[in-house]
Amino acid sequence: MAIKLYNTLTQKKESFQPIEEGKVKMYVCGPTVYNYIHIGNARPAIVFDVVRRYLEYRGYDVRYISNFTDVDDKLIRAAKELGEEVPDVAERFIEAYHEDTGALGVKRANEHPRVTENMDEIIAFIEALIEKDFAYESDGDVYFRTKKFEGYGKLSHQSIDELKLGSRIGVGEKKEDPLDFTLWKAAKEGEISWSSSWGEGRPGWHIECSAMAQKYLGDTIDIHAGGKDLAFPHHENEVAQTEALTGHTFANYWLHNGYININNEKMSKSLGNFVLVHDLIKQHDPEAIRFFMLSVHYRNPINFNHELLESAKTGLDRIKDTVENLEHRLENSADLAEDVPAWKEKVEGYRERFVSEMDDDFNTANAISILFELSKEANLYLQGSNTSKEVLELFIERFNDFGSVLGVSFREEKALLDEDIDQLIEERNKARKERNFSRADEIREELKEQGILLEDTPQGVRWKRM
Ligand SMILES: [Zn+2]
Repeated sequence: MAIKLYNTLTQKKESFQPIEEGKVKMYVCGPTVYNYIHIGNARPAIVFDVVRRYLEYRGYDVRYISNFTDVDDKLIRAAKELGEEVPDVAERFIEAYHEDTGALGVKRANEHPRVTENMDEIIAFIEALIEKDFAYESDGDVYFRTKKFEGYGKLSHQSIDELKLGSRIGVGEKKEDPLDFTLWKAAKEGEISWSSSWGEGRPGWHIECSAMAQKYLGDTIDIHAGGKDLAFPHHENEVAQTEALTGHTFANYWLHNGYININNEKMSKSLGNFVLVHDLIKQHDPEAIRFFMLSVHYRNPINFNHELLESAKTGLDRIKDTVENLEHRLENSADLAEDVPAWKEKVEGYRERFVSEMDDDFNTANAISILFELSKEANLYLQGSNTSKEVLELFIERFNDFGSVLGVSFREEKALLDEDIDQLIEERNKARKERNFSRADEIREELKEQGILLEDTPQGVRWKRM
């Protein structure tokens, strides 16, 4: 059976057919790193991490690229407000992004390209578009000639006429047509900038993803993903830029995740209801946050509040209890076989059901229901006094399997004790005092591997579990 996924481009569920047998090229738009991420940003990070994990589970070799927008208006503004340089602000929030999404069980991408490190490719991309007459320079800015690209609007399913109604030329813009969008922005006095044949400036937002997807994955990619809010104009413009340049399809499948509401209200600046992941993971078990996020199909809207997170935590703990009981029985009981083939078949049936739900456009909501059924079944099995090691192992294997796809571990980790951590920190302090920085770094890494993050503050070292 093939994996089916809902393609925004065709508005249909389609069978997944990779460009190259057994391989998947996947690009997911990453954040603009001017602040900590909020849970709206965490959703694509988590759900597309599961898409990646599931594709890997089904045997695909996935190349996963996710960018960082490390220069743009928001960053320039934030740097000014903080009295810092743009690269320093970006660096800090890239670190924080890795830390926060790492706590949520998101695997790192194969590459996390940054705009500022791909400036040559971006400039070359724009130059090539100008050469093909799809773009033009105007007083130091460069714009994309939208109407020249036939099929503009095909991703977000809007006609050029509809789009025309909603567009106008903004103050200070020097476009030929209201629908044209920025590829290169001339720098204002004192702004961070790069040299180009059109003068000092920086790229517009959309062009970076076209240039970086091409550089890291090639002209045509399998899956392009991001939040629903990115479909227009960001992804529409990416399609136009890339297809205008290459003449080939940019991405075969477009996946978009739904919105997050906070207590049934839209998350917005004006309502002041932004929930930062950085804060949330201090209040709630990060695994429960992830589990909660996956309890709703990725395309549907999800409502967030603390009670819902708590109930996700309760559910997760119930499954962990089951797995613990299975392991306990496995270690402490005799191997008394009873109806082994029948039970094996039963447990195997759960794999098939799990796979068929995940094959159906990555339906994690239903997959999680099956997980709870499996847990119930396992408890039923444990109620009997005679259990076979083989069946117990099979149950545990199922939980581990499903857990690896969802990115949640159902076993209680034998974590480092607080005393052990304090002792290691003590040792690290000593090493630093003696200027033995390699030992100090080694300890930091050792702790990190155990899921412990250190933070050096003026009040001393603080630590937390990832
Ligand atoms: Zn993008």
